[in-house]
Amino acid sequence: GAGRLSSPTMLQFLHMKKTIPLIVGNWKCNPMKIADAQALAAAVAKGHKKSATPYVAIAPTALHTSVVANKIAKSTVMLAAQNVSPYTVGAHTGEQSVNQFKDIGAEFVIIGHSERRADGVTDADVLAKVQAVLAGKLTPIVCIGEEKRDRNGNFFKDIEKQIRSFAKGLSLTQMKKVVIAYEPIWAIGTGKTATADDVKEMQIFIQKVLTKLHDRSIAQSVRLLYGGSVKPHNAAELHQVGDMNGFLVGGASLKPADFIAITKAVL
Ligand code: PEP
Repeated sequence: GAGRLSSPTMLQFLHMKKTIPLIVGNWKCNPMKIADAQALAAAVAKGHKKSATPYVAIAPTALHTSVVANKIAKSTVMLAAQNVSPYTVGAHTGEQSVNQFKDIGAEFVIIGHSERRADGVTDADVLAKVQAVLAGKLTPIVCIGEEKRDRNGNFFKDIEKQIRSFAKGLSLTQMKKVVIAYEPIWAIGTGKTATADDVKEMQIFIQKVLTKLHDRSIAQSVRLLYGGSVKPHNAAELHQVGDMNGFLVGGASLKPADFIAITKAVL
């Protein structure tokens, strides 16, 4: 297959500093037609024909991954999967494996999105998927986030629990390769965002949790993304004040002009 693992894109990403943001567009179960997925991918590719360092990825449905890969082949846009099987190959009806995505050119896999968790994906499933993705040498983007906020800050405990639930099953070397996407569930697809100060507060908290797990070296390696109603008008402030290392973008990633505006707002 035309796996892009040795492509300049991936090699550049591996060496890319956390100071360069990573922006991932999660298309969810959209669009309905292949032709529309192709058009959307082509529009994003046009906005990122060349960049000094690749920093933008899109996650189409599994069905559209191949056609989207073709459309972005000549751009610096990278490919992500929205979900993956914990199994490698074989008798697992309805599953898609890490190596199948890798063969098409995917470099990232979103794991444990709240919409998957709402569909029954457990912490144990998340860990198994992260292990499969790391074994396949792709980069897992693990989603965490509280359902709602409370004035006493109990939601911080839930965030710590979610991080520990997969960190406990990973070695330090593995953990350093994980991207964590903080996506408060109440902010996903609702038009409500955490304030930029809330994002900064969570960035500090997650760094502390990671430091407690090991030491500061891990907090320095793990890339943190914010997700939840990121739009062109709030992207710059959320990025600058929130101080994470990029975004996971849902709704706005389906509008090429909006998505490209978000990718430019973080530079
Ligand atoms: C998401 O699905 O990960 C997401 C953040 O969605 P939205 O940007 O639409 O809130």
